[in-house]
Amino acid sequence: MFIFFGTRSSKIKTRKLQGPTECPHCQSQDSFFATTFGKYFHVFWIPILPFSKTTLVECAHCKKTYRTNELPENIQQALHKTDEQNPVKRPIWHSLGCLVVVAFFGLSIILSIVGIIFFKANRDIRENLLDADIEQLTNTPDQGTDAVSYHLKDCIIDEIDGVDTNEIEYYSKIEEEKLLVLLNIKKGLSVTETASRKQIVFAVEDCLKHYVLPEEPMVGRKEIYIGVKDKLSFVLIKTPDGEDMDGTFADKKLLFTFYGDKPVKE
Ligand SMILES: [Zn+2]
Repeated sequence: MFIFFGTRSSKIKTRKLQGPTECPHCQSQDSFFATTFGKYFHVFWIPILPFSKTTLVECAHCKKTYRTNELPENIQQALHKTDEQNPVKRPIWHSLGCLVVVAFFGLSIILSIVGIIFFKANRDIRENLLDADIEQLTNTPDQGTDAVSYHLKDCIIDEIDGVDTNEIEYYSKIEEEKLLVLLNIKKGLSVTETASRKQIVFAVEDCLKHYVLPEEPMVGRKEIYIGVKDKLSFVLIKTPDGEDMDGTFADKKLLFTFYGDKPVKE
């Protein structure tokens, strides 16, 4: 099997032991060198996590190597003394994988925070206003508080392809010379043909013109902003500034001008 993870070790440091020492094998004086190896866990040969260190001591004269626990007490002490003065430090690349992961998460968190701050600073308040008005959509508009919606619901009873007119929710709002009419087709527009989809907007316009506005003279001749949405998003939008009625989704930004011509920042 192809092994792509496991452990590897690499030489960290070789140093001469401080004397006095004597090789138990060849009796050479001060001939010891200690070499420390570091083991690390790797995935695809990329070091992820360091774990153990091993030190071997070799006599430069007779080439005999000793594990530290095989050394006489006095040589072990010489090794300790050498390492105290000049500690063996593991190279940072033994934890490369960990560092990359930590750096990645750290960077993600920082970028998210920056993103949220940037998003909040740049969010157009007109979008919040539209969202608040969407919350007001209701299937039982009140004649006292929302006469336009009340009359619209009364008027739009004819069959429209792919729409159950009884299920439509309405909300309307007047701001100076502007009239906003929002419709929510909860079950969605089931027709796919553009011409059929537009019927709902034309029905709203017809009702406003021939039924609602004469009934409510206060509404007068307003600039009319119509937004039709389904469960997920706007699907049809028609405003004095333009319309979006040919795609599957409509760009709700078109409705923002109802709340003001220019973006409003917090
Ligand atoms: Zn020796």
